[in-house]
Amino acid sequence: MILPIVAYGDPVLRKKGIEISEDYPKLKEFIANMWETMYEASGVGLAAPQVGRAIRLFIIDASPFADDENVSEEENAQLAEMKMVFINPKIIAEEGEEWAFNEGCLSIPDVREDVFRKPTITIEYLDENFKSHTKTFDGIGARVIQHEYDHIEGILFTDKLSSLKKRLIKGKLSNISKGKVHADYRMRFPLMKKGR
Ligand SMILES: [Zn+2]
Repeated sequence: MILPIVAYGDPVLRKKGIEISEDYPKLKEFIANMWETMYEASGVGLAAPQVGRAIRLFIIDASPFADDENVSEEENAQLAEMKMVFINPKIIAEEGEEWAFNEGCLSIPDVREDVFRKPTITIEYLDENFKSHTKTFDGIGARVIQHEYDHIEGILFTDKLSSLKKRLIKGKLSNISKGKVHADYRMRFPLMKKGR
């Protein structure tokens, strides 16, 4: 089932997600719905708060990045395999010199900006079977995870922009909250006037 994606301005995007246990109700079904919702919207990642649940869960599929010719063959091979579920994750290390990458977000349609983040992360997490892993990711793979991880901490990529950039996109963000934006997928807008 396709779930509506919550737009910028909804308080659920600002909540710190809570950890879940294996008996979280209808978890398998919820994850299946998240995959369907993410693919429908042509996303490479989706965090539970973006579909209205403040829990520590996100999914990623970085394979659309795998044919980037600016990326090494080794990294492309890793990206092609990066279809993953992260439950109760914890980033335990972030290393290297910050680099810029142009990010976008399904909750913030039509806004894309360069964001600086460190290139290498190590993350502990549970997969969809509640099996525990600790893995290190680099480059674009790390980037997708960092973006989604921020969502379960209540952080959006627009928070990381310079104050000038923030001022420049303020009107656009306010319009998104009101539903004055075009998206090719189903969304829920916090400040949309009803009955029109
Ligand atoms: Zn996002």
